[in-house]
Amino acid sequence: MSRAILPGSNVHGQMATLGVMGGGQLGRMFVHAAQTMGYFTVVLDPDAASPAGLVSHHHIQTDYLDEQGLAQLVQRCAAITTEFENVPAPALLRLGAHRPVAPASQAVAIAQDRAAEKAHFVRCGVPVAPHAVIETAEQLNGVTADLLPGILKTSRMGYDGKGQIRVNTREALGAAWAELKGVPCVLEKMLSLQAECSVIVARGADGQMVNFPVQLNLHREGILAVTSVYEGAVPAEVAAQAVAATRAIAEGLHYVGVLCVEFFMLEGGQLVVNEMAPRPHNSGHYTLNACDQSQFELQVRTLAGLPLTQPRQHSPSIMLNLLGDLWTADASPAWDKVLALPGTHLHLYGKLSARPGRKMGHLNITGDTPEAVRATALLAAALLGMAAF
Ligand code: ADP
Ligand code: MG
Repeated sequence: MSRAILPGSNVHGQMATLGVMGGGQLGRMFVHAAQTMGYFTVVLDPDAASPAGLVSHHHIQTDYLDEQGLAQLVQRCAAITTEFENVPAPALLRLGAHRPVAPASQAVAIAQDRAAEKAHFVRCGVPVAPHAVIETAEQLNGVTADLLPGILKTSRMGYDGKGQIRVNTREALGAAWAELKGVPCVLEKMLSLQAECSVIVARGADGQMVNFPVQLNLHREGILAVTSVYEGAVPAEVAAQAVAATRAIAEGLHYVGVLCVEFFMLEGGQLVVNEMAPRPHNSGHYTLNACDQSQFELQVRTLAGLPLTQPRQHSPSIMLNLLGDLWTADASPAWDKVLALPGTHLHLYGKLSARPGRKMGHLNITGDTPEAVRATALLAAALLGMAAF
């Protein structure tokens, strides 16, 4: 990716066009950012009503491995990105033969596999939770007692706590693996978490890298619920360690694009890496309103080969994830009351039906001070029927 794809029309009157594999909310926000900067966009997603497909200039409605769909994407786009990590790596490899693709299929392939991902973290010198890879009955029987109680996680296709079973005993472990149909898994020791945090970096093809500040994340039932980002949310020493580890992980992959790394903060203050996402992340949605550049703008810049400058957070911020649970059969949440609160920014993804656990949108709250932001966020949560934090 040596030459930048400049936005707007070229001398032949053709619009510079960027493509994205996947039409979920992350794709939608990528499309918004790309269009704001003057790019045409193409989304490939099989779903006719996908959040990104609905707002893109063009929507290729085929399966991710469909030959014709991929050929059309290549023909229409100058460069292509992805918005979810389970997009088939072979599809990215195909696209990469014809166009710049960021992130590259090899980085996505590592992030798709918990065992490969952990091996990469270890190679980069970043501590991981004690764990064992379970792909065979011998490996299951060889699990040592110190990994229990633990969490059995499928190596592939897990998200939002899906594909995970908590196990206390050897018997439960065997039953859990059977329940997961004996697919390749990783057993992780259950750690005593003080908190969780994440870091998002953007790295260009020239190796230039910038980062957002460390985000403090609260998960409920395996799904991100609240992200808080302001001075002091995470102790400065831990924050510096997390940023350094994330940069090392991105560097080790020769990564191009936006990468999020999630960490556990243990009771003793120790930092352990959990997992990475080769794309913008739910914990970075606050950047849309609290930073001078959003994570999606940085995704556009890395894809187009444009320069990167260090983003600056200008306001303390809290993000509340808006899950389908907040909708009832006969009523939407009271947005009129929520938006009467100062510094509230509503983002809804255009999904037509709400289901429990489904990510429908998020609410960003900005303000002058962390205290003011917290007070507003708690009022908003109460109005929405979300538990306090
Ligand atoms: P997903 O890919 O579904 O996000 P994670 O591995 O990040 O799965 O797990 C989801 C959540 O479960 C984490 O954010 C954390 O709150 C909890 N969790 C996962 N692994 C551990 C562990 N080893 N010890 C304690 N809590 C864990
Ligand atoms: Mg996670």
